[in-house]
Formats: sequence, structure tokens, C-alpha cells
Amino acid sequence: MLGAMRRLAVLLVAVAIPFGAAAFAQSAPLSPAASAHSCSGSYTHAHLPWGQKCLRAGQFCKLDGDRHYHRFRYHCHRSGRDGSGRYHLSR
Ligand SMILES: [Zn+2]
Repeated sequence: MLGAMRRLAVLLVAVAIPFGAAAFAQSAPLSPAASAHSCSGSYTHAHLPWGQKCLRAGQFCKLDGDRHYHRFRYHCHRSGRDGSGRYHLSR
């Protein structure tokens, strides 16, 4: 009987792993194929939760979106605030 219990435990673990992997995959960066829609010159095409954007250092940005800019190696920090209270992207 102990053998059957062990098999059941192994089965449960085997089922649980793919679920965890799927959850992880959802938060992973997008595939390169998604960049088919391109931006000109020095801009970086980015899929952000609020839409597709062409990013470049110095552009206006959303302070609370900083963690999303990180995926594209940009930052939107308080230090990027200008005289009129708007924030700008930095690398
Ligand atoms: Zn940042």
C-alpha cells in the first residue's frame, strides 16, 4: 500500500509542475516574433500594458510603469522628473 501512496505523490508533483511553469511563462518577456511591428531608428519597440510604444531615452514616461520599462532596459524614475513635473525615460 505504501508503494501506491508514493506513486500518487509522484503523480501529484508531476501535475503541479506544468501549472507552475505556465504561470511563469505568462510573466516572461515576449518572443522576438512580436517585434514585427517596428519603430524607426534609435527607438525600441515595446509592448507595454497600456499599449505598444516606441521607446527612446528622454521621452515622457509613466512613473508607475517603471517595472514594465525594465523589460526593455529603460527606466522611469523620480530622478527623471523635469521642471514641469513630467518624467522622462532613461537607460
Ligand atoms: Zn527602473
